[in-house]
Amino acid sequence: MSDVDATRGTGPTPPDAVRATGSGTGPTPPDALRAAESGTGAFDDRHRPRADLVSDCVHCGFCLTTCPTYVLWGEEMDSPRGRIHLIAQGLEGEPLSDAMVEHFDRCLGCMACVTACPSGVRYDRLIEDTRAQVERRHPRTARERALRAAIFAVFPYPRRLRLLRGPLWAYQRSGLQRLVARSGLLERLAPTLATLDALAPRLRGVPRPPRRVAAHGTRRAVVGMLTGCVQSAFFPDVNAATVRILAAEGCDVVIPSGQGCCGALSVHNGRRAEAEGFARRLVDTFERSGMDYFVVNAAGCGSSLKEYGELLADDPAYAARAAAFAAKVRDLAELLVELGPVAVRHPLPVTVAYHDACHLAHAQGVRAQPRALLRAIPGLELREIAEAEICCGSAGVWNVLNPAPAAELGDRKAAAVLGTGASLLVTANPGCLMQVAAAVRRQGGSIALAHTAQVLDASLRGLGAAALTDRRA
Ligand code: SF4
Ligand code: SF4
Repeated sequence: MSDVDATRGTGPTPPDAVRATGSGTGPTPPDALRAAESGTGAFDDRHRPRADLVSDCVHCGFCLTTCPTYVLWGEEMDSPRGRIHLIAQGLEGEPLSDAMVEHFDRCLGCMACVTACPSGVRYDRLIEDTRAQVERRHPRTARERALRAAIFAVFPYPRRLRLLRGPLWAYQRSGLQRLVARSGLLERLAPTLATLDALAPRLRGVPRPPRRVAAHGTRRAVVGMLTGCVQSAFFPDVNAATVRILAAEGCDVVIPSGQGCCGALSVHNGRRAEAEGFARRLVDTFERSGMDYFVVNAAGCGSSLKEYGELLADDPAYAARAAAFAAKVRDLAELLVELGPVAVRHPLPVTVAYHDACHLAHAQGVRAQPRALLRAIPGLELREIAEAEICCGSAGVWNVLNPAPAAELGDRKAAAVLGTGASLLVTANPGCLMQVAAAVRRQGGSIALAHTAQVLDASLRGLGAAALTDRRA
């Protein structure tokens, strides 16, 4: 029996492929891991997953039921505990096998396990370092390489994404999208394209924000703002709402053009060198802006930005600057609660289901602030979603790389959302908005969707609930 079998809680037998890689017979002692630290095995010496973090895991299994892949498949090696076991094996000298990589690839990086773990295991650090090793050391198939190359040639580049708006708009408005969906052809011939097609949001034309917007009334802070990649290309109305709210709450908003990607997508997918390049550029862009805070309205971006200090720690020219930058990063809801309200909230009689984006709730610990902002709006009723800790299956580009299980998780989330009976789903991440909207449409359901910023903006401007509930999935 392997050590993972011995420590299993409720899960079934691990996959054969993984058992074949196993060598342990009991929880790995820290000394054994430390001794193996400079060896070869699965990992080289560039940011090896840290043995001391691996040995923090006491195999209790409290994380298992919050892990979406364990929930889907019930396989130990597709749980946080199982993946930590595989990392331990790699540190002990096991080579990086296809089976190991498959289990690492299947991790959504949702960090629900970090929230659930009573021992404070830094699974986030472990999987990030592991993924970077996988991308450097594991030969992928030609198909995998081509798909990843296509994704990373487009997604982290706001200008390239914006070029897609015109063709996508024509495709949606001409009725061609409905025809293609009804035919089922795309799903049969090109499942990845079909996934992207289903995820594509309904486009709205919104002018790009100016480079600087002055605070209304007395200035309380100068705030740099990330416009983002997907956010700026497909949800410009969320950025416009964010700027209006910040100005109304007494902030000068600084929005330099050409700010580029923050590197979140790259770092979450093991492309560390690429992420470092994006981070340096963003630090350069905002460093002389005089900002007190750097505000982000996309959860995945915010969690990476707060870790710029660690990301650029090895770069003597940027380490201190990146750490200073990271200390100013706030999620929009976090900053607004920190500053306290000054603008008048108008009533918004609407029932809201609030969805915790994983990289906001689990990775940044920001749960109370968005709820507090929403509850402070007169007339708004807030409802909680069942299984809130389970990821919706979006997870950056995980839903593009793993369309079938992502759709399963999306359907599960959509059912829980529709089960609240709310008329509006609110969340703070563009990926979640697209993923849940696609799942709701697939189920033939209907619910309006909005970012937290759009709800608060509608209240501050006295627009009424219809301005939000008209935006249906
Ligand atoms: S990050 Fe999410 S998917 Fe990955 S092991 Fe943790 S809970 Fe599971
Ligand atoms: S990661 Fe944490 S919760 Fe999961 S098995 Fe290890 S110690 Fe327990």
